[in-house]
Amino acid sequence: MSLLVTGSIAIDTVKTPYGVSEECIGGSAVYFSMAASFFAPVRLIGAIGSDCPFDFAEVFAKRDVDTRGLEVRQHSKTFRWMGTYFDNMDDRKTDYIELNVLAEDPPKVPAAFKDSKYVFLANTAPSLQLQLLQQIHKPIFTAADTMDFWIEGHFDDLTMLLKKINCLIINEDEAKLLANEHNLIKAAGKILSMGTEVVIIKKGESGSVVCDAGGNRFVLPAYPAAEVIDPTGAGDSFAGGLMGYIAQAGKTDFATAVAYGTVVASFTIADFSINGLTSINRSDIDKRFEALRKLTSF
Ligand code: AMP
Repeated sequence: MSLLVTGSIAIDTVKTPYGVSEECIGGSAVYFSMAASFFAPVRLIGAIGSDCPFDFAEVFAKRDVDTRGLEVRQHSKTFRWMGTYFDNMDDRKTDYIELNVLAEDPPKVPAAFKDSKYVFLANTAPSLQLQLLQQIHKPIFTAADTMDFWIEGHFDDLTMLLKKINCLIINEDEAKLLANEHNLIKAAGKILSMGTEVVIIKKGESGSVVCDAGGNRFVLPAYPAAEVIDPTGAGDSFAGGLMGYIAQAGKTDFATAVAYGTVVASFTIADFSINGLTSINRSDIDKRFEALRKLTSF
């Protein structure tokens, strides 16, 4: 079923212990769309400036990604992000950020996209996430991601957003920051009390935890990947695999969805930018999904 995403479309520069990838394609909505399109058709909403060097028809050439919601703003500049990973490859620092189009009005949702049933509000300004969500008629399931930058600077918008979504997908440090709580399970409880029904916490190479308002919990380790070159986009690819599966299956089976998210993220981190996702197909994902199932059953 229809899966809509909005988020950042970025010109990234990424440094890892394995090298530097300059001015490459990135952004939360791009990673998400690539990942989710293995499972379900994706409708992409986003904005770029006239400086954007990427040809999106080429980027999504072999994917079922509808780019009618992509706005090219002639007098604006594309969002830019530069980050450096530490030797453990799990922690990173943002060296530089230029919001550009992300500080402007949100992109418009084309009329043909307003009936989308599954919605993912990938990492972008919470005010843009809220305004986008208001344009969708009757979504069945809505999830969002955020990060420290927005938690620290746009907390009020974020708390409004939490009341309007079904699920927050967030990383461990950000969950603790958002809840102002060091214990992860207590942090999850506090986030659930802010309004969302489910919180999925990503713990990098330690896997992920799902907690819902009914007290149910599910934990899954990460796929034990030997190849880790550039972790950028792992979180967005995790969300893409997870939401793609939910849109395809038409049900919120979080255990299977989290397992697919985990597997897709393990391919993303094997190469710079989106290259880890352009070089695989659905059967590679399914094979690794079965391997993860064997590794985690006892
Ligand atoms: P992830 O590694 O999954 O957290 O996603 C990394 C991607 O998020 C990069 O491609 C960045 O361009 C993008 N990004 C970084 N900071 C922000 C931000 N504040 N808002 C939206 N997207 C961002």
